[in-house]
Amino acid sequence: MEPWDANLWQRTARPVPVYPLLGADATADVAIIGAGYTGLAAALRFASHGRDAVVLEAHEPGFGASGRNTGWWVPFWTLMTPEKALARFGEAAGGRFCQMMIDAGRLVSLLVETHGIACDMRQTGVVCAANTPETLKKLQSSAATWRQWGAPVDEIDVVAMRDYVATDRYIGGVMYRDGGQLQPLDYCRGLAAAAVRSGVRIHSRSPATALVPEGNGWRVTTPTGTVQARQVLLATNAYPPIFGKMQSKFLHIKIAMIASEPFPDQGRRYLPHGAAMADVDSHDAFGVGFDCEGRLVTSVMPAFRDGITPEAAARPFWRMFRNIFPDAPERVGWQSLWHGEICVPSDALVKTEELAPGLFAAFGYSGNGIAQASMVGTEMADWMATGDRARLRVPPMALKSVPLAGMVSLLINRLALPALGHVVYR
Ligand SMILES: Cc1cc2nc3c(=O)[nH]c(=O)nc-3n(C[C@H](O)[C@H](O)[C@H](O)COP(=O)(O)OP(=O)(O)OC[C@H]3O[C@@H](n4cnc5c(N)ncnc54)[C@H](O)[C@@H]3O)c2cc1C
Repeated sequence: MEPWDANLWQRTARPVPVYPLLGADATADVAIIGAGYTGLAAALRFASHGRDAVVLEAHEPGFGASGRNTGWWVPFWTLMTPEKALARFGEAAGGRFCQMMIDAGRLVSLLVETHGIACDMRQTGVVCAANTPETLKKLQSSAATWRQWGAPVDEIDVVAMRDYVATDRYIGGVMYRDGGQLQPLDYCRGLAAAAVRSGVRIHSRSPATALVPEGNGWRVTTPTGTVQARQVLLATNAYPPIFGKMQSKFLHIKIAMIASEPFPDQGRRYLPHGAAMADVDSHDAFGVGFDCEGRLVTSVMPAFRDGITPEAAARPFWRMFRNIFPDAPERVGWQSLWHGEICVPSDALVKTEELAPGLFAAFGYSGNGIAQASMVGTEMADWMATGDRARLRVPPMALKSVPLAGMVSLLINRLALPALGHVVYR
């Protein structure tokens, strides 16, 4: 993978303190492994329960998906509409799961405001656009059910759609008003700073290398010290899972990200209201959003050739962009190309587990994790601190293995996603 500094968010993030590595043996009520949104939201919440939490991060806070993503927070579960949630989990548990999602959209802005996190948050909403009547019907029906649950989701007709996305390609769609855009690494680092202010200890460059039950808890080993804690939360997402049993529980899918040079009008010629847009008919492979300085930042079908330039990786995407916005210039400059990994369980739905007494894990946001991981981390801490499983609104789900997970991930990353790119970016 390219150096961490290739990542636009790392290049544009606000300066932060360097957290010390774990330099000695320590004790804590809870050890959290991984400083992304899940681990840091959990740490903040543990502190509010009066628990002593230590966060161990292999690199630095935000090094994983939390500092590499597109920066759109979208309040829905991937592949999970309220109807599906009720059908799968029943009226009570399915309803609580939906309500959790609605609350998750609001939680992001609440955390940002409460802790004064400087992360260029813009609550623009996020538009899902359809260019076929079938897709539009599905979007409208899903919007209608979300609305019944109180979620601020609007249907957009063809006229309003042109106002959001300046092209005649889309026939309508929906707008998730409780979503928006932010600088994802700054948001993550802001959670870390808030956690430290609440008394949490964070140790960077302190990878957990072993985890063994000891006494009435667990001993976590790093190269420079150990932590003895009554409870452990694994918040390592798709990044190297330390607990062997987890390896086969999800696919590691690599997503490529590109960022352009700033557009002169901040991209308002294409997205007049500044709301990010995902083309649902392209399986979400075509999306357009601009950062607060007007750079187009989006994911593209991965290009894993060594030494590939941002221009080459962006070329198929830009071809499609010009089909959709025919007056776009032939060329724009591309500043950055980087990759991140998403964690996809067998049913693409978040998993929250007690793997062994006192050892917990939360993972599997399947590419939608800004709001979701912030909320799941918060409620995991409620569950772990109180012992009351009902404080976590993710229903219990069987943790199934994905057969040949490593091999299947490789095939998807190397073959299936590039092939999909050829189909989508025509
Ligand atoms: C390219 C990309 C684009 C995305 N776009 C969006 C988007 O627009 N909107 C959205 O909602 N979601 C998006 N997502 C998903 C979202 O970023 C993730 O779901 C979310 O960040 C997961 O947070 P997390 O804390 O669970 O994991 P991560 O942020 O991945 O954190 C895991 C951390 O664990 C650390 N770690 C791993 N092993 C160890 C160890 N042994 N010891 C110590 N530390 C360890 C890693 O270094 C890492 O920092 C995207 C993801 C990617 C990759």
